[in-house]
Amino acid sequence: MLIVLLGPPGAGKGTQAERLVKQLHLAYIATGDILRAAVKSGTALGQKAKEYMERGQLVPDEIVVEIVRERLADADCAAGAILDGFPRTVAQADALDKVLRDMGKKVDRVIYIEVEEEELLSRLTGRRVCRDCAATYHIKFNPPRVRNVCDQCGGELYQREDDSLTTVQERLQVYREQTAPLIDYYRKQGVLEVIDGNREMEEVYADILAAIEKGSD
Ligand code: ADP
Ligand code: AMP
Repeated sequence: MLIVLLGPPGAGKGTQAERLVKQLHLAYIATGDILRAAVKSGTALGQKAKEYMERGQLVPDEIVVEIVRERLADADCAAGAILDGFPRTVAQADALDKVLRDMGKKVDRVIYIEVEEEELLSRLTGRRVCRDCAATYHIKFNPPRVRNVCDQCGGELYQREDDSLTTVQERLQVYREQTAPLIDYYRKQGVLEVIDGNREMEEVYADILAAIEKGSD
């Protein structure tokens, strides 16, 4: 089963994916996490991606498509995967369809998490992420038990540089222009499920699970 989580930055894709992969035993592919790890370790890929990410722009399609193509070939993806933050352009979605077709697979469900813009701003500017395991918290909505310490691995929490107010605004603009067209793209394919993400994490999670189960009937 191949599930795409679609939605603006801050919609809760990573938060919901953390739960879904545990419950459904699917591989997890978050292009943002992969790119941040590459930037941190200073690889050639990371050096290329860094300037785009700092500005809130998208990394070029060919770079992210290659990352996902390679990752989907890993053994842990055989039973299925959750894609978080990919695809983000129509060109990426077309490329994903082709990669999957070559593997005899397809996108089974696209979970579009819809959240109002004002809410996105407070979610993103209050987000904290674990340096070691990338688990996500929020200073108000989902605080860790101990301030700035990850509940899961004890790692240090930090604020992403691109979660500053100016970069967040740029990222939302990029989303509207380049990623939002994917809503219609997947609606036309008949795989789109729209979820109201303006609610408590548990309620959103229950709806997502129901949408996935409905899809596998
Ligand atoms: P995305 O992966 O879509 O960018 P995240 O999952 O990182 O979004 O969530 C963004 C921020 O909002 C995080 O700080 C997270 O803890 C918080 N968050 C996620 N879902 C909810 C929710 N339903 N209600 C309130 N805060 C949420
Ligand atoms: P995210 O962690 O999903 O919020 O992504 C953080 C940043 O990584 C984005 O603002 C982009 O610069 C880059 N990025 C992540 N996924 C993609 C993608 N599919 N296409 C292009 N850039 C991406």
